[in-house]
Amino acid sequence: MTDVHSPDIRSKNMRAIRSKDTVPELLIRRALHASGLRYSLHRKNLPGTPDLVFRQYHSVVFIHGCFWHGHRGCRYFKLPQSRPEFWRQKISKNTANDAAAVAALVRTGWRVAVVWECALKQKKPDEMKELVGRIHNWITSADETCPAEFSAVSNPNTDKPWPSSTRR
Ligand SMILES: [Zn+2]
Repeated sequence: MTDVHSPDIRSKNMRAIRSKDTVPELLIRRALHASGLRYSLHRKNLPGTPDLVFRQYHSVVFIHGCFWHGHRGCRYFKLPQSRPEFWRQKISKNTANDAAAVAALVRTGWRVAVVWECALKQKKPDEMKELVGRIHNWITSADETCPAEFSAVSNPNTDKPWPSSTRR
């Protein structure tokens, strides 16, 4: 794979990789870069430290792990059997932080997309290409739908309580 980054960006990326980057994040990042988009990473000066920031399009993208960010209705989100109450509280806190960050970004004129990890799982190359195309189009379009979500969950029921390990 050819390295398209300057040494400065590369070392910045390497530092970020150690601290934050996940496999799904790297997948989507590489694909968007290959599709011609340029971005900055993990901007701590923005609410929620968005994973990717497309300043030119005033858009940010979060890549959320379905467990840590409590993706409702998702088969990858299931509370652990041990200490479910601890996890419920922890993940509730994460989702509250996420919602607050999105609200703050939208208030200040940013467009926000969330790419859930499940959308990236077990994708064939052409499916991945299709997904990246949709994300690319959203970033570069004037679509004000906010936040846009890219997920394998077609119809999440957001009123449902957390799935509990005892009820599954
Ligand atoms: Zn999910």
